Amino acid sequence: MPDCVFCDIASRKRPAEILFENDDAICILDINPIHYGHSLVIPKRHCRDFLDVPSGTLGGVMEAARTVARALVQSLNLEGYNIFTNNGAIAGQSVFHFHLHITPRYKNDNITFVLTLKQYHNGEMAEYAHRIRKNLGTPD
Ligand SMILES: [Zn+2]
Repeated sequence: MPDCVFCDIASRKRPAEILFENDDAICILDINPIHYGHSLVIPKRHCRDFLDVPSGTLGGVMEAARTVARALVQSLNLEGYNIFTNNGAIAGQSVFHFHLHITPRYKNDNITFVLTLKQYHNGEMAEYAHRIRKNLGTPD
């Protein structure tokens, strides 16, 4: 994959602060951290987003995420952390090679996800469930 910063990091063509790797994933420090220690977990094989991650790779990516999350908790004495991933430009994805973010959280760190929660009305919840189950092949 030409011009992919994460492929270049995985193949050691571009420098990064590598924390950990296994057969499927490489973990690095994000160069623009939310908090120091903010890490990225990246499949070694190029895949565009979550839906593009091969089944045989996903387990190794999640194991690497847990290994690094545990190390962040222990080495930085964290009480909490977030794991998130942006998929698609509209969701904030900026590098189109799938990656998980793991970021430390601290009391009063002024990081907020401002969400306006909706309510389902008049059977909408059942309708949405029906549409999704139909796509999954799950019986109603
Ligand atoms: Zn790539």
